Amino acid sequence: TKVLLTGGSGFIAAHILEQLLAKNHTVVTTVRSEDKAAKILEAYPEQASSGALTVAIVPDIAKPDAFDEVVKFPGLEVVLHTASPFHFKFTDPKKELIDPAVIGTTAILRAIARSAPSVRRVVVTSSFAAIMSEASIGDSNTVFSEASWNPVTINDIHNSPATAYRASKTLAEKAAWDFVSDPSNGAKFDLATINPPMVFGPVVHYLSTLESINTSNARIVDAIKGKWREEIPSTGQALIWVDVRDVAAAHIKAGLEIPEAGGKRLFTTSGWFSNSEIAAVLRKNFPEDADKLPTEETKGGELPPAGDRFGYDNSKTTELLGIQWIGLEKSVVDTVKSLKKIEA
Ligand code: NDP
Repeated sequence: TKVLLTGGSGFIAAHILEQLLAKNHTVVTTVRSEDKAAKILEAYPEQASSGALTVAIVPDIAKPDAFDEVVKFPGLEVVLHTASPFHFKFTDPKKELIDPAVIGTTAILRAIARSAPSVRRVVVTSSFAAIMSEASIGDSNTVFSEASWNPVTINDIHNSPATAYRASKTLAEKAAWDFVSDPSNGAKFDLATINPPMVFGPVVHYLSTLESINTSNARIVDAIKGKWREEIPSTGQALIWVDVRDVAAAHIKAGLEIPEAGGKRLFTTSGWFSNSEIAAVLRKNFPEDADKLPTEETKGGELPPAGDRFGYDNSKTTELLGIQWIGLEKSVVDTVKSLKKIEA
């Protein structure tokens, strides 16, 4: 199958790329810079020379015509759109988060509708951020599922950096569903979204450095660098997680392998996690790092009791995808092993 994967240098996308090539698909992936293009091509010399892998530069996804050329790759069948900002280092949330997320999503859908008639399915990487609602995080009567929508609006983007990020994901996903449901846009493809909560898991060595670690693995880097020694920080609001290899597999299943995924939001989730559970996994598996890790007595980072946190139900997704979600211990251990490898 011929697949267009946007943001191929990303934490999640690097795993999607690896799994697609392992399954002998033909991939065109986009990145922002020549430097990242070169790193990806170097990592897959065989596929680069056989034409199974092409890397295209799309410098700014916030331009409405950003994807007009790359979608013309002959015979494209599936598009996986993962590129979207996920960081909190912005000063202007509208310009740096909302625009690349929302314009980037509509730009690629419009370009496909106009110029890529062979595309049958588009998968957009959305998020639990588009499912949850900040007001209900502590409410045990709330059950977040594939049917839930974050009520956040553009007017909320100055509330906090996290709220701005959640708005970018919610508005981008809404824009995607609106696009395919409006017949005047002429889409001949259907849509599926992948909505993961916090994603942990190994980083691919050819793209990553400890200094520029992806946002969701940053807490594990902090823990192994000794920043949790005195006190384990709060787990935050997400409280549920999934392994990056499962998220990558979900994109491929939804895009290429499971026709019934069309029209669905897929809530890919392994289960609950807390920073104190991550600390326990680290202590058990990396005794050689004991001097940097929190001890059994170190306080903080506990999961709130069941009565003080939201409920969730992703059984429809688990059933449709048939994925046995990787567990927290394996995920955290494999993450740390990958971090040690890039540090070495
Ligand atoms: P990364 O930061 O590793 O990847 C983000 C990707 O988007 C990179 O390829 C990045 O390019 C690209 N990108 C970001 N901003 C821009 C921009 N302004 N213009 C062009 N490209 C841009 O994060 P993840 O892999 O974790 O995120 C991938 C997707 O998954 C995102 O859509 C994110 O919202 C979503 N997601 C992630 C979760 C997580 O916990 N990790 C949870 C739920 C959803 P570059 O490499 O050049 O920076």
